Amino acid sequence: MDFRQRAGILAATTRGTAMTDVPPDAEARRAIPPVICYPTETLPPPPMDLYRTSLASTWHKGTVRVPPREAGTAEIPAGSFLRIKSVEGPQVGDLNLFNAADLQERFYSGKTRALHGSHVTAGDRLWSSFPYLRPLATIVQDTLGWYGIDAFGGAVHDVIGTRCDPYTGRLLGGGDYHHCCHSNLTRALADWMEVPPRTAEPLVHDVLNVFMCTGFTRDTGQYFMKASPVRPGDHLTFFAEVDLLAVLSACPGGDCGAEHSSDAAACHPLEMEVWTAEPPEGWTAPAVNPYDRSHGR
Ligand SMILES: [Zn+2]
Repeated sequence: MDFRQRAGILAATTRGTAMTDVPPDAEARRAIPPVICYPTETLPPPPMDLYRTSLASTWHKGTVRVPPREAGTAEIPAGSFLRIKSVEGPQVGDLNLFNAADLQERFYSGKTRALHGSHVTAGDRLWSSFPYLRPLATIVQDTLGWYGIDAFGGAVHDVIGTRCDPYTGRLLGGGDYHHCCHSNLTRALADWMEVPPRTAEPLVHDVLNVFMCTGFTRDTGQYFMKASPVRPGDHLTFFAEVDLLAVLSACPGGDCGAEHSSDAAACHPLEMEVWTAEPPEGWTAPAVNPYDRSHGR
C-alpha cells in the first residue's frame, strides 16, 4: 500500500465514510491521472530580460523599515522595483498589494495560485482581482529560488495561506491578539488612507506569504508551516506593472517555526526598498482584462 492508498483510506475513515462504503473500483477511480486546471502555455511570458536590464540601472529611492509585529506601507511607481529584504533574522512577511490609484484593484491570491501553483518565484506574476485580472507585479529575483520543494512537500513564498487574524483566534477558542497580520495590515492601510481601521479593513485581502515555508501534509491534507530558510540579506524583488501600494506585515510568528498569533516567537524587522528606473524601453503597463462584463445578458 503506497502513501496515496493510505491517505485515501485515512481521509475516508476520518471524514466519516465507513470502509464498507468504498466501491470495488475505488483504486481505478483514484488512478485517473490529473489534468492541469489552467495550462499557462497561452499566457504571454513576462519580458524578464527587459526587467533585469532595467534593474541593473536602478537607483535607490528609499527604504521603509517594518518593525516586528507591525506593518508598513510603500508606494512603488509603475516601472520601478520593490525589494522585500530580511535584515536581522529569519522573519516571514504578509504582503498586500493594491493599484495605488484604485484600491478596489488588489492582489488576487487564489487566481495567482490557480495560474502559477501554490508557491511563487522569479518569473511568476501577482495578478489582480476581478474585473481587472492583470499583473500587478512580476517577481524578478528570488534569493530563495534554490529551495525548491523539500521532503515534507514544503516550499517558500506561498499563496495558500490567508493571513493570521484575530477572528480565527476566537473561532479556535483563543483570546484576542491585536498584532496578527490582518490587524497590522488593517492599521497600516488605515493610516495610509487616513481613515478609521473599520473603513480600511474590508480592503485587506489574502496575502503573499513572503519567505514563509509551507505545504500540505500528505496524510491529512492540512496546511503546515515550518521554520523559514530565510537569512539576513535574502530578498524577493518585484517589478511594479502599475503604480503600486504595498502593505507588509512582519508576522508575529517570526520565522513561523512554531506558532503565530502571540508574542511568543522571536520576531525581526523587514525592509521594503524602492528602486526606481526609467521604465524599460518597449515596456507598457498591462491593460485591464478585456472581458466586456456582460455575463451573457
Ligand atoms: Zn501573520
